[in-house]
Amino acid sequence: MSAAPIIVRTEKALRAQISKWRLADHKIGYVPTMGALHDGHLSLITFARKHTERVVASIYVNPTQFAEGEDLATYPRQEKSDIRKLGGAGCDLVYIPKSGSMYDRDHSTQINVGGAALGLETDYRPHFFGGVALIVTKLFNRVQPDIAVFGKKDYQQFLTIRRMTTDFDIPVRVYGAPIIREKDGLAMSSRNLYFDADARLVAGQLNKIMRVCAKEIKNGSHIGTATAKAKRALLKSGFQSVDYVAAADRRNLSLLRGPIKDRKARLLIAATCAGVRLIDNCDI
Ligand code: AMP
Repeated sequence: MSAAPIIVRTEKALRAQISKWRLADHKIGYVPTMGALHDGHLSLITFARKHTERVVASIYVNPTQFAEGEDLATYPRQEKSDIRKLGGAGCDLVYIPKSGSMYDRDHSTQINVGGAALGLETDYRPHFFGGVALIVTKLFNRVQPDIAVFGKKDYQQFLTIRRMTTDFDIPVRVYGAPIIREKDGLAMSSRNLYFDADARLVAGQLNKIMRVCAKEIKNGSHIGTATAKAKRALLKSGFQSVDYVAAADRRNLSLLRGPIKDRKARLLIAATCAGVRLIDNCDI
């Protein structure tokens, strides 16, 4: 389980290894990441291992999902320790495309995402899901996995990718895996590395406030009242701004209002603490 994974940096070497496994009739699971790996990422490798003989991870900080002024240049890069962690989790191959080898100089095609991709994150990061859809499509085409595993930590992203995969007849089964959290409930994230001790304490309040809000809605509170209360609680506990606290249909993220009655719903939050934008979500 903890053998060193094969490292490939070119599309050619990747395709050669995938072909060998295919000839041996091995099914392939795939976990795309941007690196700076933590136990949340590694849980996706474990998830994939349960379904397929071979597990591939990629590490690529994708420029098309960052906007001007976001943290593309400073996004944490920890290749050596990432490879070690992936090997320990049972990953067979790590694909680390050379920067510049992913997008052709004349790349011209964009993907216009809809459905669950609309609203929420898109209201604040309009470039984001188009960029994610593009890189995931390219990576799916290169890796050609049977299954791919995404974290529900990025719930809107998971639904967007699953929808796109269905809409484009991409022969990959997309799974959503549970959110892995720190002891105080903060969802693990590569960007948690940006926090100093004080900010980290504030960040830990996000999950607690989210849980209270979800419970209130479940118990019949009006969604507008409960989410407004959660926003006030976040600001009071030290968050500098709150982008949204919203209840949405669990399958397509259409926004819900009033009491939820029998709808299967998800509560989604985005808020900024010490300059770091956090997202989280849970079932209601
Ligand atoms: P990233 O490297 O941030 O692009 O994330 C790569 C994958 O890991 C995505 O599918 C994320 O949803 C997933 N992921 C990130 N954090 C967590 C977490 N705390 N629990 C579960 N999955 C996660």
